[in-house]
Amino acid sequence: MDCIFCKIANGEIPSTTLYEDEEVRVIFDINPASVGHVLILPKTHAASLLEYPTEKLGTIFAIAQKIGNAMIQGLPCDGVNILANCREAAGQTVDHFHVHIIPRYANAPTKDAMTIESGTIEKPDFDALKEAITKAF
Ligand code: AMP
Ligand code: ZN
Repeated sequence: MDCIFCKIANGEIPSTTLYEDEEVRVIFDINPASVGHVLILPKTHAASLLEYPTEKLGTIFAIAQKIGNAMIQGLPCDGVNILANCREAAGQTVDHFHVHIIPRYANAPTKDAMTIESGTIEKPDFDALKEAITKAF
């Protein structure tokens, strides 16, 4: 399969690597949303977090936690966004699971977490939503 993040994660395409182990490579985002924005790339291909082996997700988020704390201390920054876009409708542009770690700075002009605007829809029927989602568990 011709997947650019597979090639980067496995070292076939060179990258500036922040961290690497058997499971992941963490690289600096080529088009950063803030100073220090990195991506955790698993070395095995999965289209998104939704397809990644459940039992291996803990490892990915343990790495995200470690890097987030290191960014707060080391950059330093004041906060981090840790997020994974899943599928095109959610803004995913590279179909290889990756977790964004985006450092945030208290004096930065915008504090918006993402481009998703909250409070722009009618108040939903929470009971109906709960039923629709839980029946698919
Ligand atoms: P997403 O929208 O969640 O799929 O994010 C994809 C991210 O990958 C974007 O923030 C891109 O800037 C970043 N990106 C795409 N190609 C590369 C690359 N070759 N090296 C580093 N980051 C990349
Ligand atoms: Zn891949």
